[in-house]
Amino acid sequence: MSVLLKNVLALNCSYTINKLLTPAVVTSSSLLERLADIWDGVLNAVPKKRRSLQQRHWRNKFKALQPRNDIEDCVVCGHKKLQGHLCNNCFKWTMTLTEKLWQKKIDSGEINTKRHVR
Ligand SMILES: [Zn+2]
Repeated sequence: MSVLLKNVLALNCSYTINKLLTPAVVTSSSLLERLADIWDGVLNAVPKKRRSLQQRHWRNKFKALQPRNDIEDCVVCGHKKLQGHLCNNCFKWTMTLTEKLWQKKIDSGEINTKRHVR
C-alpha cells in the first residue's frame, strides 16, 4: 500500500495523501476504487520500444498466407500435386523401379561398373 501511495504522490495527482489516509479509505476496496479513479487513463499498456520493420514482418509472416488454388490430383496415382509439376509419389515410385533395374543389370554383368584403367 505504501508503494502505491508513493506512486500517487510521484504523479502529482489532485488527490492528497490526507484524503487517502482518512478512516473511510482504510478498507482496501474503497481504496482500490479511488486508486482506479486516479489511474484511469494513466496505466494503459504501451510498448516501451518501437518494433522494427523486420520484427513486424517476422511476426506477421503467417498473416500473409493465402489459400492455394493450383493444387490438383495426380492422374496416375491420385495424390495431390502442384499444377504443372511432377507428382512426388510417382517420381519416387519411378526412381525405385529404375534403381531395381540398374541393380539387376549390374548383378547380371550387362553393365560394368568397374573403371577400365590401362
Ligand atoms: Zn502421381
